[in-house]
This record gives sequence, C-alpha cells and structure tokens, in this order.
Amino acid sequence: MKYIFVTGGVVSSLGKGIAAASLGTLLERRGLKVTLQKLDPYLNVDPGTMNPFEHGEVYVLDDGAETDLDLGHYERFTHSALTRASNSTSGQIYETVLAKERAGEFLGKTVQVVPHITDEIKTRINKLAVSHPCDVLITEIGGTVGDIEGLPFLEAIRQFQFEVGEENCMIMHVTLVPYIKAAGELKTKPSQQSVAKLREIGLHPDVLIARTEHDLTDDLRRKLSTFCNVPQKAVIEGRDVPHSIYEVPLFLQKEKLDDIVCERLGLNVPPANMGEWERFVKRLLNPKKRVRIAMVGKYVEHKDAYKSIDESINHAAASLDCGAEVVEVDAEILESEDAGRHLANYAGILVPGGFGERGIEGKIAAAAYARKHGVPYLGLCLGMQIATIEFARNVLGLAKANSTEFDAKSPDPVIDLLPEQKKVKGKGATMRLGTWPTLLKPGTRAYALYGVPEIRERHRHRYEFNQAYRERMEAAGFIIAGTSPDGKLVELIELRDHPWFLACQYHPEFKSKPTAPHPLFKGFLAACLAHEQ
Ligand code: GLN
Repeated sequence: MKYIFVTGGVVSSLGKGIAAASLGTLLERRGLKVTLQKLDPYLNVDPGTMNPFEHGEVYVLDDGAETDLDLGHYERFTHSALTRASNSTSGQIYETVLAKERAGEFLGKTVQVVPHITDEIKTRINKLAVSHPCDVLITEIGGTVGDIEGLPFLEAIRQFQFEVGEENCMIMHVTLVPYIKAAGELKTKPSQQSVAKLREIGLHPDVLIARTEHDLTDDLRRKLSTFCNVPQKAVIEGRDVPHSIYEVPLFLQKEKLDDIVCERLGLNVPPANMGEWERFVKRLLNPKKRVRIAMVGKYVEHKDAYKSIDESINHAAASLDCGAEVVEVDAEILESEDAGRHLANYAGILVPGGFGERGIEGKIAAAAYARKHGVPYLGLCLGMQIATIEFARNVLGLAKANSTEFDAKSPDPVIDLLPEQKKVKGKGATMRLGTWPTLLKPGTRAYALYGVPEIRERHRHRYEFNQAYRERMEAAGFIIAGTSPDGKLVELIELRDHPWFLACQYHPEFKSKPTAPHPLFKGFLAACLAHEQ
C-alpha cells in the first residue's frame, strides 16, 4: 500500500481538498484503488457542532458520521467508500487518548503529545489502511503548515514515513504563489518559507502544487525547484481553473501530476482514462440552455455553506445540457418584503436544510409563493418541514401551525421532535444521522424519478412530520410519497395540485456524483426548464 500526504502552505482555502480529490480521480482512472482521509487539527470532536458560517457545510456519510466538507469532494471525485474512520480530528484523537489514560492503559507513565497523541494519529492511519484496503491512501492534513495545532500531525507523518519507508510514502504540498500587482510579479518566497517550515519538522515535499492566478514560467518553476528541493518536473502549476472545480483533474493531468506520483511510488499503471470525466466537463461548460434557481437560505454569506447542493445542481444540470445559476436569496429579506418581488424571476425555488428560528418565516413565504404560483419547489430536510408548516397554515387554515423547534407552544405542532430525541441532552452527534431506508408510494412523482420502490438516503435531523395531521393534510392534497419501512416517519412529500412540488426529510445532495446525478435534482431541474418555457 502507498501513502500520499497532502499538506498546505502559506494560507488556507487553497483548495487542498480539491487537489487531493483530483489526484484521487486521476489515480482511480489509471486503474488504482484509492481511498481518502482527512485529519483535522481543530478540537471539535466533529464539525457537527460548528456553524456553517464558521466552517461551511457539514457533510454526512452513510454511517452517520458528520464530517468536513472536503469528504464531499472525495466522494464526488472518486468511488472511495468513506466511513467515520475517514475523518479524524484532534478532538477525537485527544478523546481516545484521554479515555485510555482514565482507563489506566498508560499506568505509571506521563501521557504526552509525543508519543501518545502522535501514536494515536499513526494508529488511525494504519487502521484505515486495514479497514479500507486499497492501492493508495491519500491523507489530507487540515490547516496550514506552521499552525501550532497542526504540529503533532506533521510529526506523526514524519515517523510514519520512516516506518513504512520513503518508497511507499510521499508528500504533496499545496502552496500559494501570489501575484504582487505593484511589482507585476509572482512571488515564490512564501512557498520557500512554508517548505522550510516543513523541513524543520523533518519532512520534505515530493511534489509542489503552486496555486497561482498566472502562468508559472520556467524561471519560476526553476526557482521553486531549487529553493524548495523539489525536482523541477514535480513543480506543478495549480492555476485557478476558469470555470469549474471539475476541470482541476484535467489541468493536473496536463501538468503530469499523476505520472510524477506513480513514478515516485513505483506504481506501474497505464495512463488515466479521463474520457467520461471530459465529457461531463464539456457538457457542464457548454450548456445549451440556462435556468436560474433561487436558494432561500440563511447561511448565504458563506460560499461553502451549501456546497453539496450546489454541486448536485451542477451534476443534474450537466446531464440535461443546461446551465444552472443558483442565486442565494436571504430568507430574512422575505420576512419584511414581498416574496414575489424577490422570487418572480426564477425557474425554481429550493429551500435547503437549516437549524434555528432565524429566517423561518421568510422560507415559509417562499414555499407559499412556489405553491401558489406553480413554481417548481425542492425542499431538503428543513425545506420539507417548511413546506409542511406552510401547507398546514395556508391550506388547512391552522394559522399558528409550526415546528416545535421554532414555537414550543404552537397549538398545531405539525413538525415535532422525533420520539427518540426527547431524552437526548447533548448536541454532539445526537441527531438522527446517516443512511436509512425509505419506501416510496407507487404512482407518485418520486417513485417515477427513482424508478425503484425502496431507496436509501442520508439523514441529519431532530424533528419530523407529526402523523396526527396526516389524514387532514392528505385529504387536502399533501401526498406522503415516502415513509420509513414501518410507516412511522414521513420521509418524502409532494403536492397533488402542483406541477412539481417535492420535499424530503433526508439529504439527497450527499449522494449526487458528477456522472451519476441524483434523480430528485434531475427531476427538479427538468421541471425548472419546463416551467421557464
Ligand atoms: N432543524 C431541523 C431538524 O433538526 C432540520 C435539520 C436540517 O435541515 N438538517 O429536524
């Protein structure tokens, strides 16, 4: 087994996750079995307790792990099956070591960052190699080289490399080569300094990915090579891609990244067959039609807060030769201003997941607008709860209908806590999480889209549809299109008297892939196109 560690230099947000995922794409398409892993130096046990404003989207895996959004890139760019073991944080690592200390496993010893924390990091890498057998394990280290909290990870990699042998292990360092406008020049000094920081710990990069806005000239490559101790051909231009992150694997292939990696690790495999990927990118970049979709959310300031939804829309759009522009509409604006004024020019309305009271009334106004004007509506998780509240209020006339998440005293709690949630006190990893089956009702739109009677989708919620209202809602045209196999939990709803109104309690956005778009997103986009015409 071969190991590739991906580190970042100079600044954060360089797209290390996409670089790691893209390398995964290339190696997979050379016939290698790949898996990816992220080690995050922060102390939260998982990102589930972080605000999307802070950290972007929380990505949920099949096994219910709440993980970093980079795992979303890994799943979308490769076929690697990720699990809880694919994302470790300092919080988890310390939790394990401290639990062992309390259990007396280190009795008599002083427990220290080195060797106890570093050993636990290595143990986790080794365990993943056993539980996810593959040819290449790509491990991304969160944060930037030089961060205090990242040091134990780098020290662990140093030891790991020594233990498995240099020939089986390499380091890909993603760094920034900034353009200084006043001087009209690209500067290599920050990269030199971040590589020097790596060397201080005893690591040296085998490949440099130089993120840049401009051409990396031969002169600059030579300079980076000389001062960073990396062969010149292993200095890879990581130019900002013009249109889409899905171009990254193709650009990196042109720079021969995968050749260099295979040569360095002694992997004798044919060149990557990128035909299918190229066809996808071509369709994505050359749409024949366009639609604009309003996403009514509240985390609109953070570009990555709805990452998987944005990507799912891209995948579905490409498959329909259509370009979709997603415009984020701040839900709070719709609370004081007329929804029609803000929503009239869109082919569809999407209400994504979310927590807490802020912006709720604005989302309800958006759902009402979509229902009354026959605009395609896709509700995801909270978006289904919103659709339920709206229907109860405006069709059944239950003016105070609400979710007990937002109004604990609502006389008509059409959305209420899941029974098993009533005794839950803590907030970390306590929701209904991960993959659960749903049975679809024959004859519904959802059944036609999925084409199968039973589906499995990923969840992350505490509240659910209150069955006490089921009969009244159904009689008025609110179709329960999918439930848990025991019939107790409503997973999917549709509206009878509407061209396309569908909402689910689960998160289909976690299962869409570039070349396998999700049926619900595809159905939604097709409905948006039809609506526009
Ligand atoms: N806040 C809602 C719940 O907990 C919806 C969650 C979500 O959208 N992910 O059920």
